Amino acid sequence: MKTINPVDQLNRPLRDLRISVTDRCNFRCTYCMPAEIFGERYEFLPKEKLLSFEEIYRIAKISVQIGVKKIRITGGEPLVRQDIPDLIEMLSEIDEIDDIAMTTNAYLLEKFAQDLKSAGLNRITVSLDSLDDDVFQKMNGRGFDTSKVKNGILEAKKVGLSPIKINAVVQKNVNDHTILDLIDWCRENKLIPRFIEYMDVGNLNQWNLSEVIFSKQLVEMVNEIFPVEPVDSSYPGEVAKKYRFLDGKGEFGVISSVSQPFCGDCTRLRLSPEGEIFTCLFAQKGLDLRSPIRSNASDDDLLKIIQNRWQTRNDNYSEQRSSLTNKNIKKVEMYHIGG
Ligand code: SAM
Ligand code: SF4
Ligand code: SF4
Repeated sequence: MKTINPVDQLNRPLRDLRISVTDRCNFRCTYCMPAEIFGERYEFLPKEKLLSFEEIYRIAKISVQIGVKKIRITGGEPLVRQDIPDLIEMLSEIDEIDDIAMTTNAYLLEKFAQDLKSAGLNRITVSLDSLDDDVFQKMNGRGFDTSKVKNGILEAKKVGLSPIKINAVVQKNVNDHTILDLIDWCRENKLIPRFIEYMDVGNLNQWNLSEVIFSKQLVEMVNEIFPVEPVDSSYPGEVAKKYRFLDGKGEFGVISSVSQPFCGDCTRLRLSPEGEIFTCLFAQKGLDLRSPIRSNASDDDLLKIIQNRWQTRNDNYSEQRSSLTNKNIKKVEMYHIGG
């Protein structure tokens, strides 16, 4: 297959496709889908508006022609989408894709891990904000303790999904006092913990800069108990800055999207559950692909639409954050397009 490599307005190629397969989730994390807003009456997308697996596969197959090499399945919670291993199996048949990963809260992972691995999933990132059950119960908004999540992670390890990264969003006075315990557990279980600066995604989480723990401070805190040294990034555009534990027991990472934006290397395109593409996590609107798909657009038509959108992209929200956050700009929500 002939591949072309269009670049956007800031000279960035397209490499990653993040596919959000559902807007639904079994958690109500306070910083993402606050329970007060996403209550019983909240109307999620009806089934007919969701892209089918065939439609997602088609977009992925077209995207590789303009440079996509990595796919991440996300959500909402990807494991609540019915038959998700079937989608992984379809995507893993695309030769040009080097890597298929998933971001999940792992609540249902124990049940799905083997099927995901057999279907061709390479690796998994689990969001786990704290191992302290009280803290976790509050943060996930559903009162779930950590047991099912931990079992899911250990099962994923057993079936050979590797590496397993554990992402925690750190919020001041919420879970910052529990990060050393999380690191300890990850070191014992050969997992890679990564700490994400709490971000001003969407408009629903009442984000406030005073709740962000900056990565620099976090690394200092970790270093006092578990001495570390910085590690070079493994590839251009890697979002996490990595540190190695000096005693040889693994590494950890920080994702500093607030304090040290990495827009310059951002090669990510996002596909929403209802088939809109977004060129930034903080985008105000997406571009509809479902309508052309359902009105018989050819592969070539779709290729041109995606390519043109990429070539006109000039997003660098995080680099301009301080001038934009207070402007009450309407942004897409994280649960809608995934992390
Ligand atoms: N439900 C899955 C999960 O939680 O892993 C996948 C979707 S979730 C939206 C993807 C990632 O976004 C999670 O790691 C979550 O912690 C992160 N996230 C959501 N809201 C965030 C925020 N305001 N700041 C930083 N990260 C956030
Ligand atoms: Fe659900 Fe993930 Fe958002 Fe938490 S972060 S509410 S698990 S989509
Ligand atoms: Fe990419 Fe937008 Fe995040 Fe910058 S703010 S790294 S352009 S998703």
